[in-house]
Amino acid sequence: MDNTTALPISIRSLTKKYGDLFALKTVDLEIRSGEFLTLLGPSGSGKTTLLMAIAGFNRPDSGSIFFGDAEMVLTPPHKRDVGMVFQSYALFPHMSVAENVGFPLKLRGIAFAERKARVEEALETVQLSGLGERGIDQLSGGQRQRVALARAFVFRPRILLMDEPLSALDKKLREQMQIELKHIHRQLGVTTVYVTHDQREALTMSDRIAVINHGELAQVDTPEAIYNKPSNEFVADFIGESTMLPLTQDSAGRLTFGESVVASEAPDPSHNDWSLVIRPERLRVLAKDASAGDQHVMFSGTVTEAVFQGDTAFALVKLRGGATLTVRFGTGAVSEGSRLEAGQSVSVGLIREDLILIPRESA
Ligand code: ADP
Ligand code: MG
Repeated sequence: MDNTTALPISIRSLTKKYGDLFALKTVDLEIRSGEFLTLLGPSGSGKTTLLMAIAGFNRPDSGSIFFGDAEMVLTPPHKRDVGMVFQSYALFPHMSVAENVGFPLKLRGIAFAERKARVEEALETVQLSGLGERGIDQLSGGQRQRVALARAFVFRPRILLMDEPLSALDKKLREQMQIELKHIHRQLGVTTVYVTHDQREALTMSDRIAVINHGELAQVDTPEAIYNKPSNEFVADFIGESTMLPLTQDSAGRLTFGESVVASEAPDPSHNDWSLVIRPERLRVLAKDASAGDQHVMFSGTVTEAVFQGDTAFALVKLRGGATLTVRFGTGAVSEGSRLEAGQSVSVGLIREDLILIPRESA
């Protein structure tokens, strides 16, 4: 399918209030033509409100939404040419699969023969070829969601919006559908805004992720940058596992934690208080008396817990400074952590390239 109809979306200073509550607070977001952008945030953070504003189902209090060069805030939903998929499939139960998928084409007055061809093409894309005559009640949850998806893109919308479309499915099917959706997006090339509260799902599927918290964007970046370079405490904490160590600045301007020197200077001299964010899988267990060298920042402590989880294992290491680090490692025969036991003294090292320093927010 061609992607000449894909459009960029430009959201400018968008604000939406419910009573005194800011569901969206001066949100600025540029969504590129053809990209898969995920709105990621906890429940109640404003994801659905933003998606519905793009679709035209709610009216912002101020700000603007452009599809390409056209301002859309006053345009009713049915004139926005947007396909939508919701968590609840919202299919018509009395219609067959093919009738459901063909419905948007019928609404647009497309003749039977073309309708039939396009429905077949859409069903093929979502791997439901041959099931057109089935009733909706004869389908599994995953199949229903594929029908809903086919119905959302069959009329070749310029923009596809999805609000937690996979959250009703069990884990295994959900993970399979994530990859399928990504694949379908690549085939369609349509600008897609996807909503989820599941950080792993967002990392798996997205070209870029917009992290939203209390109606404000906390960071907009690629999955790699969101994970490796979170720009604030909220993002560091919400995406992936992390331990945050509060650092102290010594008289020479170095950032330290206990006896460990983390950095020779603050990343930005205008800010005094910094935290070190540590991802459990970036730590390495080192020989007890290993010297730090220049490559690693070293921490020493005592293993308080060693837990086997199948694909990976983790150990909790209580540092002399009081904080506890989680160290995650593989479980293969040569894994460095597989022989750890509670009570053992260890040194763990963090390679300097993996240092994540973020400004500490005052409580
Ligand atoms: P999310 O989709 O991220 O879970 P929502 O966008 O649904 O969050 O909601 C954002 C905030 O706005 C929440 O605090 C929610 O309670 C509130 N809210 C959403 N819709 C309404 C409404 N129609 N009336 C009043 N408050 C609402
Ligand atoms: Mg929601």
